[in-house]
Amino acid sequence: MIPTAFDYTKPATVEEAIAALSDGDSKLLAGGYSLIPAMKMRLTQPSKLVDISGIPSLKGIKEEDGEIVINAGTTHYEILTNDLIKNRLPFFTQAAGIIGDVQVRNRGTIGGSLAHADPAADWPAPVLAAEAIIDVKGTGGGRSIPATDFFTGLFSTQLLPDEIIVAIRIPVQEGARSVYLSFEQPASRFAIVGCAVLRKADGRVNIAFTGVSEAPFRDRGAEAVFDGKSWDTATIDTAVDAAIGEVDVLSDHFASSEYRRHLAKVYLKRALQALA
Ligand SMILES: Cc1cc2nc3c(=O)[nH]c(=O)nc-3n(C[C@H](O)[C@H](O)[C@H](O)COP(=O)(O)OP(=O)(O)OC[C@H]3O[C@@H](n4cnc5c(N)ncnc54)[C@H](O)[C@@H]3O)c2cc1C
Repeated sequence: MIPTAFDYTKPATVEEAIAALSDGDSKLLAGGYSLIPAMKMRLTQPSKLVDISGIPSLKGIKEEDGEIVINAGTTHYEILTNDLIKNRLPFFTQAAGIIGDVQVRNRGTIGGSLAHADPAADWPAPVLAAEAIIDVKGTGGGRSIPATDFFTGLFSTQLLPDEIIVAIRIPVQEGARSVYLSFEQPASRFAIVGCAVLRKADGRVNIAFTGVSEAPFRDRGAEAVFDGKSWDTATIDTAVDAAIGEVDVLSDHFASSEYRRHLAKVYLKRALQALA
């Protein structure tokens, strides 16, 4: 399949990229592992691609002012192999390691994945459970969007057409432990169900799902079960019973909604047991 013709520009800075975006029906190109297939299938036909893969400020991972900062152009592989992430956010390492294959991990970026908002993408679950903030910049200036507000539906987010995700900031939670588990589509490895759990030092818990519904979400009903309770088998079973609640669960040729709901509970139970 061949995409329609398009112009191409490769800015050196975020500011140049924003300026290029405001010029007509342009789209950002990061790793290209979601955008290029969509262009080849003519699901999207941008008149210009603004290639942000050469912008130095969009690369890298650091710890600063009590936060882990992952710049948006950091690849899945760079996250997978980063020692700070391994120590501070082990569920990010787990998620990075099960995305696609070596080629996808080497080129695809966390910012591209979040902006694309594929309902089966892995990143949204750990990003939500980690209480991340998504920093964006556009012609109107910069803003910081809590991950819980960022995803608005199927392939849709709060991003405006001229905005670029520049970084994902995650508060360091001393003593917290985390796990990400996914039931993968066997060919692409996209999540049919992905479950991220962060257990804080005080026993409170953040639970997030991807793959289950049109948009990823925090499961507040299951989280609330842990308030003031000890982490025992009964509490875990009650949380699993409470999980998914009134969620409108997806159904497709990989998994019916009944099966997905069942999988979500199984994977939540495994994740909670791993942290118990
Ligand atoms: C065979 C295959 C298997 C895959 N398996 C998985 C998997 O198992 N799990 C999974 O989660 N994903 C999977 N993916 C998707 C992969 O992770 C992509 O890399 C990711 O979804 C998009 O990142 P990208 O950098 O390639 O973005 P691109 O494809 O370049 O861009 C995607 C979209 O995001 C926009 N965009 C890019 N960067 C930014 C930014 N900084 N700010 C704002 N908008 C931006 C683009 O304009 C475009 O609309 C797979 C892809 C393929 C082809």
